[in-house]
Parts: sequence; structure tokens; C-alpha cells
Amino acid sequence: MVLGLARKFLCELASAAPRPRHASSERLPPGGWPDGGVITVLCGEKVHVDNSPLAWLWETCPGCNVEAHALAGVPMAGAR
Ligand SMILES: [Zn+2]
Repeated sequence: MVLGLARKFLCELASAAPRPRHASSERLPPGGWPDGGVITVLCGEKVHVDNSPLAWLWETCPGCNVEAHALAGVPMAGAR
């Protein structure tokens, strides 16, 4: 049972690994965006919403990271 769950988790993690984690400046609708919905993110891409806990483990999209820092008025780490 535990091994089966571990395998399922690893399979989900492996399938989720290549996707970047994007950011959006759109106002979050009540209850959040529905899974599978399409939104435009800070880097300009249109992406399908994924609210799964694994999505938080994805690597941050470099384009969204730059735009998020600019919106917040915070210099990126290492920038001089
Ligand atoms: Zn992005």
C-alpha cells in the first residue's frame, strides 16, 4: 500500500517535473482558478491552471520571476 502510494507520487512528480511554475498578476477569483482553466501569466504565456500540491515543487519560470520582481520593485538576488 505504502509502496503503491510512493510509486504513484514518483510518477506524478516525474510527469510534473518539466513544467515551470508561473505567476500571474490577475486577481484571484473567489475559490481560486479552476483546474484546467487557461490564464495569461507574467511571462506572456497562456497556461492551464494546476492547483495540485506538486505544482509548488516545479521550478520557477525565469520570465515570470523577472516580471514579479519588477512589479514588486524588488531587485533580483545577485543583480547589481
Ligand atoms: Zn512564466
